[in-house]
Amino acid sequence: FRINMSEIIKLAELGKGNYGVVYKALHRPSGVTMAVKEIRLSLEEATFNQIIMELDILHKATSPYIVDFYGAFFVEGSVFICMEYMDVGSMDKLYVGGITDEGVLSRIAYAVLQGLKTLKEEHNIIHRDVKPTNVLVNSSGQIKLCDFGVSGNLVASISKTNIGCQSYMAPERIRVGGGGNGVLTYTVQADIWSLGLTILEMAIGCYPYPPDSYTSIFAQLSAICDGEPPRLPSCFSSEAHDFVNRCLQKNPSVRPGYQELSTHPWILKYQNSDVDMHTWAKANLESRAAGNIER
Ligand code: ADP
Repeated sequence: FRINMSEIIKLAELGKGNYGVVYKALHRPSGVTMAVKEIRLSLEEATFNQIIMELDILHKATSPYIVDFYGAFFVEGSVFICMEYMDVGSMDKLYVGGITDEGVLSRIAYAVLQGLKTLKEEHNIIHRDVKPTNVLVNSSGQIKLCDFGVSGNLVASISKTNIGCQSYMAPERIRVGGGGNGVLTYTVQADIWSLGLTILEMAIGCYPYPPDSYTSIFAQLSAICDGEPPRLPSCFSSEAHDFVNRCLQKNPSVRPGYQELSTHPWILKYQNSDVDMHTWAKANLESRAAGNIER
C-alpha cells in the first residue's frame, strides 16, 4: 500500500539522529503503529522523486534481521520513511553500563551479520552506517538493522550536510576524506570494521574512542587512522576478544567476511546454547518504562 501524510498521526518522538527526527506514528487506514523518520533536505523536487524511487527496493528487503519498510514519500523539503516500529528501541539506549552477558552480545552480533549478509547477497546493498543507533530491538527479542545506504542520492545528500561526532567509519574511509566522495568504493570490509566497533561499544557501555579524550573531531579521526584499534577489557572471553580484534583490523583486506564471522567460535558457541533474548528484551522494555514514569 502507498502511504501519504494525511493518513499518519504522530504519537510521540522516538529520537533525534544526525539526520532527522523519528516519530512513533499511527497509520490510520491500516491501524499499524510505525516509526516514521523525517529527514529535512534542501533538494530539487526531481532529486526527491529519485530518492523515493530508490527507496522502493526496500519493499523487497524482507528478513527477520532487517526492519520492515512500509513506504516513503516527501512533503515540503522532507523525506518521510515509514518502517516497522521496534518497541524496545535502539542498542545505544540499552547498553547502559555495558552488556557483559556474552550470550546476548554474540546473538546481537549474529543478527547484525545476517542482516548485512542478506543486504549484500540478495540486494547488493552495503549498509555504510553500522552503529548502535541503527541496531533495533523488539519485545519478542528480535534484533534488526535499519538505516542502510540503499538510496545513492540520499546517502550523497546526507553526507554533504552532516559530520557526526562519533565516527564508526573504517580507517580506510577516513583516509580518503570520509563521507563517500567516490574515490574509494565502499566495501563490505568497511561495514565489518563498524560492526566490530559497535559490538565493542555495547560491551563496554561507551563509544570506544571517548570524544572527551581528544581535543577535536580531527584528533579522534586521526586516532582511528593512526592509533592502535581499541580492545575489549580482559574480563571478556578469548573468543570474544578474537571476534572483535578480527573485525577491528586496520588493513581491510585481512578483515574476515560475513561467512567467516558467522561461523566464528564466539558466534557458534551461543547459537548452540539457550540465550533468552525474549526475556532480555522484555526486561529492558520494563526498565525503560519504569525510568520514563519516574521522570
Ligand atoms: P541516527 O541518525 O543516530 O541513526 P536516527 O535518526 O536513525 O538516528 O534515529 C533516532 C532514534 O530514533 C534512534 O536512536 C532510535 O532510538 C529511534 N528509532 C529509529 N528507528 C526506529 C524504529 N524503527 N523503531 C523504534 N525506534 C526507532
